[in-house]
Amino acid sequence: MDGKAISKEIQAEIATEVASFIEQSGVTPCLAAVLVGDDPASEVYVRNKHRACERVGIASQMHKLPASTSQDELLQLISQLNAQDDVHGILIQLPLPDSIDTLQVLDAVDPGKDVDAFHPENVGLISQGRPRFLPCTPHGVQQILDRCGIEMSGKHAVIVGRSDIVGKPMSMLLTAKNSTRGPQAANATVTLCHSRTQNLHEVCRSADVIVAAIGVPKFITADMVKPGAVVVDVGINRTNDGLCGDVDFDTVKEIAGHLTPVPGGVGPLTVTMLMYNTLDAAKLMAR
Ligand code: NDP
Repeated sequence: MDGKAISKEIQAEIATEVASFIEQSGVTPCLAAVLVGDDPASEVYVRNKHRACERVGIASQMHKLPASTSQDELLQLISQLNAQDDVHGILIQLPLPDSIDTLQVLDAVDPGKDVDAFHPENVGLISQGRPRFLPCTPHGVQQILDRCGIEMSGKHAVIVGRSDIVGKPMSMLLTAKNSTRGPQAANATVTLCHSRTQNLHEVCRSADVIVAAIGVPKFITADMVKPGAVVVDVGINRTNDGLCGDVDFDTVKEIAGHLTPVPGGVGPLTVTMLMYNTLDAAKLMAR
């Protein structure tokens, strides 16, 4: 499953929608990215998001603060961005330095501008099946499944990893009964696994669809995959041999029916769905 090609296709759709939104409203959607410290990986991610904005016609602002920034200074910047009418989406690049209380910072973002869908109000709306914004990475996974024609209804999906950013919201999207935005409702039967899960190999082998979001290189091996199963690799791990996913691509590709590569799988979709949410945020503000 070619995430890069799917991402391109969706970005072209978003660019068309952005152009017609600007024409109708006179407003250019704008994403403000906040980066604290100088983590090289975070800088790459923010640069990629900035480039994606340019490609689809969304304006972007970059607020780069030193690692020594205090909690109060960061909260003050967020409060300014919340109040700015020409900023529609706010992105706080994670991880923040250890000295910062990440939850307090994420909670301070105006829920209407929370294009990452991390604010408790937005998480609550997702869990109730009436999302304001869809979480970017899980939404990207769902777009891949949808656009590759993978029927999810009634299927057994095993998600490995229960983080607030990937695994948990992924489980909410895949169990959703009704679709209010984005792809059609998945209606899958979901098992959400983590480091205490017993018999993980057997659980994975019973899956029609595996979503791996673990952060351990090549963790999912061929003996954990049912022949013909769909395997989506969310993992991005930097190793001495370069980037690799949470799935042992070379062996799993021999047994899986569908598989996403790393790089070129879920990663590009995460950025694209952020563009989708920024346009949505601008539309919501214009109402
Ligand atoms: P976290 O570290 O927050 O969560 C990892 C999860 O994996 C935890 O729930 C943990 O269990 C579980 N886990 C760890 N070891 C095992 C094990 N041996 N057996 C079973 N479960 C295990 O990671 P994230 O969710 O933030 O990220 C996961 C991966 O996805 C990373 O490689 C990250 O870089 C990548 N990522 C990719 C994105 C993209 O755009 N493609 C976006 C976001 C992340 P427990 O809860 O018990 O500790």
